[in-house]
Amino acid sequence: MPDAPVVVAVDGPAASGKGTLARRLAEHLGFAYLDTGLLYRAVARRVIDGEGDPADGAAAARAARALEPGDLAGEGLREETVTQAASAVAADPGVRAALLDFQRAFAAAPPGGAPGAVLDGRDIGTAVCPDAAVKLFLDASPEVRAGRRVRELRERGSNAIYAAVLRDMETRDARDRGRAVAPLAPAEDAFVIDTSTMNADEVFREALAHFDARTTSRK
Ligand code: C5P
Repeated sequence: MPDAPVVVAVDGPAASGKGTLARRLAEHLGFAYLDTGLLYRAVARRVIDGEGDPADGAAAARAARALEPGDLAGEGLREETVTQAASAVAADPGVRAALLDFQRAFAAAPPGGAPGAVLDGRDIGTAVCPDAAVKLFLDASPEVRAGRRVRELRERGSNAIYAAVLRDMETRDARDRGRAVAPLAPAEDAFVIDTSTMNADEVFREALAHFDARTTSRK
């Protein structure tokens, strides 16, 4: 029987650098990559498009159950209204339960027959894949993360204001950390990297060294 896929969980708050790291690790290792935040964003988009209220758990759970793969390629998933709505729908247990199977199936049988999968999100190491071989948790101060997000938005042509971005980010962090189901938190056995004063290359090198140490010691 072929070896079970190697699962890498990359969790952390917004703009901690987890998306950049997860994509790079997946590419380097030849693993499949899933941005699980997109699932919550696509659910939020469905609720908004149906003129529903993202805080209405029943409507959000219905949207989650109706989700189709094509929704993940939908437009405007990174808009601020969708971002905040994603964090609202993500607090509903019915939404999280509806998305669990898809994420676990991706990890258990990575598309394209890849030997492993990298999933990034908030609860991969704690709830979605608690048995992941490698668990990374990225963090950075809210000020650093807001600064990164402002730069990203300005590069996309928006005239983002730092104070507003910081406030929105803190609102979202508080909701993600404070929810009753699968709150944002490092798993007990996660390797925590504070990226506040690191660049993307440094984060990648540190994460890869941890990956190598964990996977070599398993063999
Ligand atoms: O990662 P991203 O910023 O795209 O996620 C959007 C929102 O989706 C987060 O603020 C969080 O509320 C939710 N989310 C989650 N669990 C995940 C991934 C994202 O609750 N695994």
